[in-house]
Amino acid sequence: MRRTLEDTYRHKGLRKKLVEVVKGKGITDETVLETMNAIPRHFFLDSAFDDVAYEDRAFPIGEGQTISQPYTVAYQTQLLELTPGMKVLEIGTGSAYQAVVLAKMGVKLFTIERQKMLFEENKGFAYLKQFPFIKFFYGDGYQGLPTYAPFDRVLITAAAPEIPQKLIEQLKPGGMMVIPVGTGNVQQMMRLTKQADGKMQEELFDNFSFVPMLAGKN
Ligand code: SAH
Repeated sequence: MRRTLEDTYRHKGLRKKLVEVVKGKGITDETVLETMNAIPRHFFLDSAFDDVAYEDRAFPIGEGQTISQPYTVAYQTQLLELTPGMKVLEIGTGSAYQAVVLAKMGVKLFTIERQKMLFEENKGFAYLKQFPFIKFFYGDGYQGLPTYAPFDRVLITAAAPEIPQKLIEQLKPGGMMVIPVGTGNVQQMMRLTKQADGKMQEELFDNFSFVPMLAGKN
C-alpha cells in the first residue's frame, strides 16, 4: 500500500467537518469526538483515497476488508464507556484506525487480525510506532487471548453470527463487550455486561453493516 503520512491544513479542515457530521448523527461523547479529530484517517488508507478519506464511509483496505465508517467507529467507541488504563481486546484490527482511536483514549489495547496480509501491513506502518501500548496479534479472534485475559472491554469490529463464548469468558466481572450480531446484511449492535454472578446483561442498539467475523486464520 502507498500511504501519505503528511497531515495538511486541508486534511485537518476536512477532518473537523467529518467530526461535525458524526456529531450531527448523534454521537455525544466529546472525548470520542476530540480523539477522532486528532487522528489522520487518510494515513490508514491507500493514497488513492486521499480525496475521500474524510467522507463518512467505509473504504476497502485489501483482502476484501474495509476500514469502518467513522460514525460506526464513534458509535462503538462511545458504547464502550472507556476510562484510561483499561485493558481492551479488539477483534478485527483491519486498518488499525479503530485501534489507534482506542489507544489515544489511554487504554492498553490488544488487537487481533486473522488476515495475514493486513497484519503484516500494520508492521510496516510507521505512524503506529507512536502507539507502543497497542499489541498486535495474528490469529483467530474467536479464541481471544487467554494469556492476557481478563479484559475490561472486548470490542468486535466484524459481524458475529453469534456471541463468541470464549470471549465472554475473557471478560472481567463488570466488563463489557460491544458486538454487532447477525448473519444477514445487517447486524444489530449489542452491549453485554458481565454481572458479578457471571450472568450477562444485554442491551440492544442500532443496526449496522459489517464484514463477517470468520473462524480460523487466513
Ligand atoms: N477495526 C477495523 C475494521 C476492519 S473490518 C478498522 O478500524 O479498520 C473487520 C476486520 O475483522 C477485517 O480486517 C477482518 O479480516 C477481521 N476479522 C474477521 N474475522 C476475524 C476473526 N475471527 N479474528 C480476527 N479478525 C477477524
